Amino acid sequence: MKALEKISENKFYSAVNMGDLKALSDYSLVHPITGRVIEGKVFLKDATAATGTEISFNALPPHAEQPYFHLHRKNEETYIILSGSGFFQVDEDCFAIKSGSVIRVAPQGKRGIRNEADEAMIYLVIQSREHSLEEHTTADGERVPVEPKWR
Ligand code: ZN
Repeated sequence: MKALEKISENKFYSAVNMGDLKALSDYSLVHPITGRVIEGKVFLKDATAATGTEISFNALPPHAEQPYFHLHRKNEETYIILSGSGFFQVDEDCFAIKSGSVIRVAPQGKRGIRNEADEAMIYLVIQSREHSLEEHTTADGERVPVEPKWR
């Protein structure tokens, strides 16, 4: 089973590298409930010590689909499609997706995804507590003077 490479970490950050996205299928994990091995999926929360989001990178082989539909109890999910093309379904709605598509799904939406392309579908899923974001983008950021070490 392929493991994430730790780049650097300290009190206020964690940096990992998952390698070439085209080799995502080398990752696998054991589903904590079903015990089934899921290939082409890597979760980042524990590896990056994240506290507000769970992020996964996923690879669906050509002409394949997630083998089940699912929903969540508390978390919304945002799917970001990086390669491939196919279909996304939420409840009774099914629509075409491709590289560049972004789909946010409320917790209770029953979701499924299919890759129709001859290449792998690579996509990110960002999971976070619904309605948890209070300040965002520039409202939460603050510029600070730091001398860049890369110079
Ligand atoms: Zn999910």
